[in-house]
Amino acid sequence: MSLYDDFYPDPKVDCINCGHAIGTNWQSKDLDCILFTWKQGIKNPIPKKWDAEIRPNLDEYYKSELPDGEYEIYTNCEECGSWNVAMIKVRDGIWNETIQQLA
Ligand SMILES: [Zn+2]
Repeated sequence: MSLYDDFYPDPKVDCINCGHAIGTNWQSKDLDCILFTWKQGIKNPIPKKWDAEIRPNLDEYYKSELPDGEYEIYTNCEECGSWNVAMIKVRDGIWNETIQQLA
C-alpha cells in the first residue's frame, strides 16, 4: 500500500486545464507519508476518519506540525482529470501559501 499525506489548500487551487477549483484530494510524498491531513492556514492536522489498524496516537496527531520548507503536492482534477502540481510553503509551522506549478 502506497501511503501519502492529504492536503486541503485554502483557498482552493484552480485546475491548470479547466479552471475548476480543487480543494481536496491533493497528496504529497514529500513528508512522512503517514496519512496525516493538513489544511492550509491551520497549524495542526485536521480531523479525519481512520481505519483502526492505521490510526496513530491521536494526542500526538493533533500536536503534529509541518516542518518549515517547501513541498510538492499533486492531484488529478476531479472535473477533467488533468494532472495538477503545486508547491506549498510552510513558515513558522504553518502552511501559508500554495503556488500552482505549470506542468
Ligand atoms: Zn480540470
